[in-house]
Amino acid sequence: MAPLDPSDHTIAELGPALKDIEDVTALEAILNAEQDGENRKGAVTLIESRIEKFSADESDETGPIDPGDCSVAELGNALQDLDTESELNAVLDAERAGEERDSAIRLIENRIDSVAGSDADEHETTTEQSPAEKHPELDHPTADKRHVRALDDGTYRDMWVYCETQAGQLIDVSKEMLGKARELMDAYNDEHNADEQVVAVVIGDSVADLAEATIGYGADVALYYEDDRLERFRHKPYTELFAEMARTDAAFRAYDEPRYTLFPATNNGRDLSAQVQAELDSGLASDCSGLYIEETIISNPVKTGQPGENKTFKRVLHMKRPDFSGFEYSTILCLDNPARAFHPQGASVIPGSFEAPALDTERTGTVIEHETELDEDWLRVDVIEHERLDSGVDLTSNEVVVALGRGIGDNPTRGMELGIELADAFADADVGVSRGIVTGSYDFEGHVEEYTQEERQIGETGQVVAPELYIAAGISGAIQHKVGMDESETIVAINTDPDARIRDFSDYFIEGDLFEVLPQLISALNAGELDLKARADGGDTDGDSNE
Ligand SMILES: Cc1cc2nc3c(=O)[nH]c(=O)nc-3n(C[C@H](O)[C@H](O)[C@H](O)COP(=O)(O)OP(=O)(O)OC[C@H]3O[C@@H](n4cnc5c(N)ncnc54)[C@H](O)[C@@H]3O)c2cc1C
Repeated sequence: MAPLDPSDHTIAELGPALKDIEDVTALEAILNAEQDGENRKGAVTLIESRIEKFSADESDETGPIDPGDCSVAELGNALQDLDTESELNAVLDAERAGEERDSAIRLIENRIDSVAGSDADEHETTTEQSPAEKHPELDHPTADKRHVRALDDGTYRDMWVYCETQAGQLIDVSKEMLGKARELMDAYNDEHNADEQVVAVVIGDSVADLAEATIGYGADVALYYEDDRLERFRHKPYTELFAEMARTDAAFRAYDEPRYTLFPATNNGRDLSAQVQAELDSGLASDCSGLYIEETIISNPVKTGQPGENKTFKRVLHMKRPDFSGFEYSTILCLDNPARAFHPQGASVIPGSFEAPALDTERTGTVIEHETELDEDWLRVDVIEHERLDSGVDLTSNEVVVALGRGIGDNPTRGMELGIELADAFADADVGVSRGIVTGSYDFEGHVEEYTQEERQIGETGQVVAPELYIAAGISGAIQHKVGMDESETIVAINTDPDARIRDFSDYFIEGDLFEVLPQLISALNAGELDLKARADGGDTDGDSNE
């Protein structure tokens, strides 16, 4: 009989319940009970992965692995358990005599090199020095960072997504990243005939339900840690927890570190991403707005090891970000050196860069509570007071955004009034501004001033919006503004300059003075003579706009 009845447990509870069961026969009995009962996909995967893990342990006792039974990815994992050159040479011979896969041979040879290297290291006597002894010239040498440089020839899998929460909800960018991660890993698995997963990481107070929700947004596995001391983001414990999860074996995984990591480019996400990636001894491409995975050919000898040689790097995450203050896009790659792996390949993602998928309540996955004790030392910085700021302005959910720029300069208060009136004429619209307004030294009258604040700025350093209709009045279309609005469904620009850059990415361009055009639009909308939104949608309502 099975030592536990899986139907007594939700999928979230099952992971912890199985934690102490290592006997393969007992696990198989639980699997049978699940399959005869509710047969939940997530539960079956969880139990099977445990069976696989402990079957592998058992077979290890009887001798080295047969590479013919393994995919290259499985071989990579299995090799980590072989520590002697003779065992590894036997596997190498078997592979050469069998399928003779280049990638498999390379993996085994690398493992042999690494084992041979560590044997040699054992004979060297090394004296552990404290950071203070090592760096006497520094006032504050840090003992905090745990280097993982020794992780050579590691195994990497999966895309991990840090899902930030606020006030008991997943924030939008967390869902957007999950959707993108799903899309990337589906394509990746197809191309590489692999089964790598999207792993959502949720940390906070009472976050089990939110972890469960990440499955509905595209995660295969949700890994969470909850503690009431983590109600608000705290730099040190959040970093330590993420890094610990990324390095610790768990039932769903047997690899050294995530292959890819994504974080939100929010205030907290920026803070966390930099620290986690440094802790894992890798790099970070911050504030990205485009991601894709592709192989890439590199000739830089720092990366190839040989001047004049090309090397193909596979499975490279291309991380696109607006750079040089937004005047161009750079693509950042995180590539290994010949003797040094840089993993995870990590990026932080600008909110609004990707579309959030709809919640699929039918999707199943594995929810796992990470088990560890919070180290009191991680909590040594105590937040003794906090203040909730007046809620900011969220322009991302309006159907229409009316944005004003420096073109209002001749009469700034009147220009803002016109923008507000136009927004009022729509059912669901609000007012945004370019940075030119936020940083300009205009003398606004009090009743419009609140509309000119940074919280309404659209662009690279403001909000990223994609409404159905974006009306830009007196905005030139600098790249830093463009990245915040060019995903809008329909863009209407009003500008006196027929050569203004914004024309290049507008659907409708009205050449004219906003002080004349906006009143006409307002009265036409209020009189019901013009349905600008229907027109923008492609309807045939009469209107004044000129292309
Ligand atoms: C690091 C960095 C980050 C930045 N981040 C952002 C950001 O997030 N968002 C942002 O917007 N900018 C940002 N900027 C600033 C950006 O480079 C531009 O300076 C800014 O967008 C220009 O604002 P504007 O279009 O309102 O003004 P301008 O570039 O001065 O354009 C005014 C436009 O109004 C037109 N005009 C003049 N009079 C009228 C009239 N009566 N009727 C109609 N049209 C008229 C003009 O022809 C002109 O095209 C950033 C810059 C840097 C360096």
